[in-house]
Amino acid sequence: MIQFQNEHVTVFQSALYQTTCTVVDTKDFVLVVDPNWLPHEIQEIQRHVASIQGEKELYLLFTHGDFDHVIGYLAFPGARVIGSKGMQEHPDKEKKVGMIGQFYNDYYIHQPYPIAFPEVDMVIGEDGQQLVIGESTLTFYLAKGHTHDGLFTLIEPLGIWIAGDYLSDFELPFIYHSAKAYEQTLRKAEQILMNHGVSVLVPGHGQTTTSQEEIQRRIQLSQGYLERLISAVTKEETEALTALEKEMAFPSNFTKQCHKDNIAIIRKEYSQGR
Ligand SMILES: [Zn+2]
Repeated sequence: MIQFQNEHVTVFQSALYQTTCTVVDTKDFVLVVDPNWLPHEIQEIQRHVASIQGEKELYLLFTHGDFDHVIGYLAFPGARVIGSKGMQEHPDKEKKVGMIGQFYNDYYIHQPYPIAFPEVDMVIGEDGQQLVIGESTLTFYLAKGHTHDGLFTLIEPLGIWIAGDYLSDFELPFIYHSAKAYEQTLRKAEQILMNHGVSVLVPGHGQTTTSQEEIQRRIQLSQGYLERLISAVTKEETEALTALEKEMAFPSNFTKQCHKDNIAIIRKEYSQGR
């Protein structure tokens, strides 16, 4: 389903977890970000790409290596793959591939194409690294915290910010990697908003926005939540922790587990030396 569209950008939204896939169409190239989840949804993306690609080179960008974001890798064979160094050196590639196979089996879905962990052609290792393609400049920032291998991508002059699993309109921070790194990434997001001309922000899950105020609100939403969560964990405020879990939209076993993981990581990072 198309969630957002303008002259250069089409954002597809999966029925599952409101996961997004962004397709950027410029004079010089076509870029597909995190094609996902279901076979017919990826087919829709393939058809769209086939209708706009012409002679242009196809790039595939992965915001991070979580299995829901890399599931469609081999649906676009021949594309040049962009990803972080953390993703290139991902320690759990086989586990991620296994999760994709498990997902298909869980839902009786015939595997639509081979599954593999992406092989990265263009490796992003540092903040501010750039890739110039024709008239466009892609600027990358490492975005750790949710995972160790996250990437923010700014596409200029179009003003597109691909945020991966940060800055959702409704999904609160899921920390699989580090709370301290997550806070740093949010500070980086503030800088990016000040230093780049952002006109469209696409999160990995949830709604695309074109409003600066809304982007600001999302940064503060995550910062505020993390601050309160860290405070409740370090002070061992059980009631506050329960209330914080209830703030998560779509409460489920999944969000329950995420909340537990958040607490475990914060405890590890903030309780040292006590
Ligand atoms: Zn995700």
